[in-house]
Amino acid sequence: MKILVCNSGSSSLKFSLFEADQELLLAGGGIDWTIRPTRLVFRLPGQPEIREELHLREHSEAAERIRADLQAGPSAPLHDLEDLDAVGHRVVHGGRRFTTAVRITPEVQRAIGELSELAPLHNPASLEGISAVERVLPSVPQVAVFDTAFHTTLPASAQTYALPRTWRTEWGIHRYGFHGLSHAYCAKRAAEMLGQSGSRLVIAHLGNGASVSAVRDGICIDTSMGFTPLDGVVMGARSGSLDPGVLLYVLRRKGLTIEQLNHALNHESGLLGLSGISSDMRQILKEAPSNPDARLALEVYIHRLVQTIGAMAATLGGVDGLVFTAGVGENSAQVRELVCANLDHLGLELNTTANAHCKPDADIARHGSPGRILVISTREDLTIVRETRRLILSEGGTKDHVPQRQSTATTRTV
Ligand code: ADP
Repeated sequence: MKILVCNSGSSSLKFSLFEADQELLLAGGGIDWTIRPTRLVFRLPGQPEIREELHLREHSEAAERIRADLQAGPSAPLHDLEDLDAVGHRVVHGGRRFTTAVRITPEVQRAIGELSELAPLHNPASLEGISAVERVLPSVPQVAVFDTAFHTTLPASAQTYALPRTWRTEWGIHRYGFHGLSHAYCAKRAAEMLGQSGSRLVIAHLGNGASVSAVRDGICIDTSMGFTPLDGVVMGARSGSLDPGVLLYVLRRKGLTIEQLNHALNHESGLLGLSGISSDMRQILKEAPSNPDARLALEVYIHRLVQTIGAMAATLGGVDGLVFTAGVGENSAQVRELVCANLDHLGLELNTTANAHCKPDADIARHGSPGRILVISTREDLTIVRETRRLILSEGGTKDHVPQRQSTATTRTV
């Protein structure tokens, strides 16, 4: 089964094409309108990246060009668009309604649009991507896979804020959680790596945005991001959790507008706000030995992360596996060592040599450590492929689809 994955942002459109039965990546790439000059990047596994300088103004122009390149471009991986069984779209916010992947219909599109109120930057961009792809591939089934869906299993105790009834029941204010595609991938991968012994997992997704989740037997039971992706641990430029009294104080006493407050919390806080240098952990680690602000940024980041891991461990009643993933989690041995320095009491004992030399996916816990410490390369695209494939097969496959048929395209493992 061939599945095209689309991830549309407000200023980017990324795609990857998979032979889904074997989870083989056939091609990938995309366009990022924030980078000048604008280029369409096209990647085929094992071959040099192809970059075309193009003036594609919007998602629909980019989608048309991607379709043409997939079908007729250099070393085209799709001989015929009839080969394509489905398109899976990443949609950030599915609210309470979308607890699993769904086939996109006009009604589903309307519902995603209504949820834009909760994700004003993300859901409109997803809709733009969906419409663009629908226009160029009108006969191919389109599926929405939601970033919030993995967290819809949170029990009421973890989902509910201690707020007045109207806020909770009429205004929809509760913990939704985000990064679900990554947490879902890591939960499955960790279970494969740990087998029976991995029923209680704490997953730390540490990228520019960061979130920690608690997963029992594959089911998410708590997560650090909340009503919005601002909640939880310290991030690159986002504050993470905060005493809500601080917000009242700066609005009342310091004359900030709502927009200024929004900008400060989302773009001027976190590692950037603390250090005054950068939101990039690499820069913080480089400067920390000599710069007290960078050092403080690192200390606050680690303190809050360790606290959150401890809270998730308490919710789970113990930890069989701690997972590090995303940019910081996968690449920074130093951050992993600082986090694990104080986790022996949870049965998480780090092998510092394995940590320093780790190539994900890897187990970096000491031999005999009761809980394992894993570093996993996250694959949000694979969660989209799996969910899309599962949905299409549950519907009896596509009109022309014969499961397990031979691929006509050149396939290479990534
Ligand atoms: P996003 O959340 O935007 O998807 P990523 O998961 O790719 O981002 O994470 C990006 C972040 O990862 C960068 O901002 C940087 O701070 C961090 N990072 C990448 N490589 C390293 C490294 N070797 N050491 C520390 N941090 C790193």
